[in-house]
Parts: sequence; C-alpha cells; structure tokens
Amino acid sequence: MLSIKNIHASVEGKQILKGIDLEVKAGEVHAIMGPNGSGKSTLASILAGREEYEITEGSVSFLGKDMLELSPEDRAREGLFLAFQYPVEIPGVSTTNFIKTALNEKRKYHGQQPLDAVSFLKLMKEKMQLVEIDKSLLTRSINEGFSGGEKKRNEIFQMAMLEPKLAILDETDSGLDIDALRIVANGVNKLRNNERAIIVITHYQRLLDYLQPDFVHVLVNGRIVKSGTKELALELEEKGYDFIKDELSLAE
Ligand code: ADP
Ligand code: MG
Ligand code: MG
Repeated sequence: MLSIKNIHASVEGKQILKGIDLEVKAGEVHAIMGPNGSGKSTLASILAGREEYEITEGSVSFLGKDMLELSPEDRAREGLFLAFQYPVEIPGVSTTNFIKTALNEKRKYHGQQPLDAVSFLKLMKEKMQLVEIDKSLLTRSINEGFSGGEKKRNEIFQMAMLEPKLAILDETDSGLDIDALRIVANGVNKLRNNERAIIVITHYQRLLDYLQPDFVHVLVNGRIVKSGTKELALELEEKGYDFIKDELSLAE
C-alpha cells in the first residue's frame, strides 16, 4: 500500500528527515511515536504534499503509484486521508456540505456519478451511528467553536465518510485530553479493516492504551531508530525516550 524509501526532507534549508524507510500493508495499523521536534509532523506533511517541505532524496509509492508525482488533491482522490489536510475552520460551510463536496470529487475522479441525496443521507446516518457523532455538530460551520473532543469526532467522521485506503492521523495537538484521545482510538478501532491501513502519529503513549497497533516505530532526530510491536510502546511508557537515545549512543 505505502512504501517509503530513504526519504530525506528539509524545511527552509534545514534537514529534518534523514532517511526514513517504512512499509505499510493493507489492514495494518502503525503507530509512529517520538519526542517533540523529531520530525513526525514533517513526515505527515510530505505525505500530504505540502509545498514548504522539500524532498531531497528518496521515494514514496502509494498503491503502486509514485506518490510524490501526485498533487495533494489527487492523493486524496486516490484514497489518502490526512485529518489536517482538511480546513481547520470554514465559516458558513457545514461539515455535511464539506464532506459532500469531497466525496463527490473523489467519485468523479474514479468515473462515478455523484451520490444522490437519498444515498448520501443514508450513508451519513450509517457513519454517524458508527462513530457516535451528533447531528448538530454536522450542520454547524466546520470546526467553528468546536471543543478538542468535537474536532476529533469530526475528523473521525470525515474519515468514516470518505472511506480512505490509507488514513494518517497526526495527533499534534498538545491540548488533547483523555476524552479526545479515546475518541480517536475508538474511531480508529472501528474503522480498521483488512483493506485499509492506518498510521497514527503521536507523542502520547496514552493513546496506545486504547489502540492496539500492529507496529510501533520510534522516530528520533529524523530517523526511525526502532520498530517493534505494541510491547515497544509499553517499554517507552516505562522508560521514556531516553532509553532509546542511550541505546543509540552506546551503539555509536
Ligand atoms: P514533531 O512533529 O515530531 O514534533 P516536526 O516535524 O513538527 O516534529 O518538526 C521537526 C523540526 O522541523 C523542528 O525542529 C521544527 O522546528 C522544524 N520545522 C517543522 N516544520 C517547519 C516549518 N514549516 N518551518 C520551519 N521549521 C519547521
Ligand atoms: Mg511538535
Ligand atoms: Mg508533530
């Protein structure tokens, strides 16, 4: 599904990613963890196709295509979902209208007709139940005055509606409370399936208490320095990131 090979990237001339390799297959849930400033959001940003990040080396293939050649919009239409790709707040535009547009653009790209109103409503109802979101949230202007938990619920709902092949959730928000983390984890657990891959980026070990990732990777200083199963997350919780840094310095 996703194959990242030797990615080096820089921002404003400063090298941030220093050779990232990552293979993600359909059905897998990967967690990428690491201390603040290690390059986690940079990795998400280059996958989203943000222009300010310059890729200086390496390749990314997504569903057999050269992802770096695709525009951000086409990446989304191919089935990539990044929560933060979507606008933070748009006064006057409801989540419902926003999702309808995104969904129909995606259908058009794949040669399908727009969903008729009845089918769209049916889909909305089904997904609202699945991720337990209240209707009132969907008719309000997107994210305007939403609490942290409501924003997360909204993101998970967008993901449920757009049915991505690959979803990447970057939990950057340092203000996430335990409820918001639980909403994200429950959403991921409900939306995981054999055909979909999910990457959760976080520096919160707590998130993994609710989420059972198949793989955990630790990103330090622009490199994945350790990969393992969820036991690695437990080890991190117990010992902190310093134990990895210590291991690395011993190996030098
Ligand atoms: P993380 O998500 O792991 O906390 P980031 O990817 O946000 O780390 O940041 C990694 C490094 O890149 C930091 O030193 C940060 O200051 C720098 N950086 C990230 N984005 C930008 C940007 N748009 N402009 C300048 N520096 C940036
Ligand atoms: Mg950060
Ligand atoms: Mg970040």
